[in-house]
Amino acid sequence: MHRIFDLHSDTVHKIAETGLRSCPDAHVDLVRMKEAGYGMAALAAFVDAGRTDDPYGDCLSYLDRIRTETEKNGDIARLITSLEDLTATARDGKVGIMLTVEEGGVIEEDIGRVRELADRGVRIMTFTWNYDNDISGCSHVSNDRGLSEFGCEFLGALEETHIIADVSHLSDAGFYDVAKLAKRPFIASHSNARAVCAHGRNLTDDMIRIIGSRGGIIGLNYCAYFVGGDGGLSMLCRHAREIADCGGVGTVALGGDLDGIPTNPAIKDCTEVPALWDALHKFGFTPSECDGIMGGNAERFFSEMLD
Ligand SMILES: [Zn+2]
Repeated sequence: MHRIFDLHSDTVHKIAETGLRSCPDAHVDLVRMKEAGYGMAALAAFVDAGRTDDPYGDCLSYLDRIRTETEKNGDIARLITSLEDLTATARDGKVGIMLTVEEGGVIEEDIGRVRELADRGVRIMTFTWNYDNDISGCSHVSNDRGLSEFGCEFLGALEETHIIADVSHLSDAGFYDVAKLAKRPFIASHSNARAVCAHGRNLTDDMIRIIGSRGGIIGLNYCAYFVGGDGGLSMLCRHAREIADCGGVGTVALGGDLDGIPTNPAIKDCTEVPALWDALHKFGFTPSECDGIMGGNAERFFSEMLD
């Protein structure tokens, strides 16, 4: 069984009634992840800022839900907030759950909230979702609007609190601001290669080169719109190849966006992710490169980034 590390799932919105252990309506739950060989899944507190009057309050309640569900299922899952958690999760063969926030705007221009989120265990955070916010423009709306002055402060606060900056959804201009200012490695948790599928949510070869040269990683997104072509496994392998060619094969990771996207017929849920290993191998990646893409690259990255 190949150990899988995934950088982005939106499952929190599917589990309010069923819980995280077993939720047949979700792409991802703990029992199926355990069976599929997941070593870690980053679960996002995703906040749709356009649909709430209390984005920060919503964010905290989603984080609580993920944490509570993980702790309740301690026989098969463990929260990963530290290097010790990462090691213990692997040792015990559990599914590690990492807390992330998708939509930096939830902090509502209160920079102290970055520290609060770090204290609550958040280890990855995006700048935006599909709205411009007071931090930056996003790829979906104002692709040429980069980080605001507050956005620069936000990046500084992420780095100070060792929350990993996540450029997925960020505008191109914002990306280059981050590239200019960041002192620590940063990631694109769920983005593909724009050279393979010309979508604004995907990364140009130059961006991939920058992320790779700074020691970051990029999670392959299973969303058919961002994969392009027939949306299938061999198309996904083309993205892996492009990212490997530009950023180095150690840059390629998984960030399936499960439970945040329409079901991809090629990867209907987390139980079908292991088939990607064979597809990558058939496509020409060596067994050890396949292991790296499925989980090893992300595991190495977190072993360097977590305290
Ligand atoms: Zn997203």
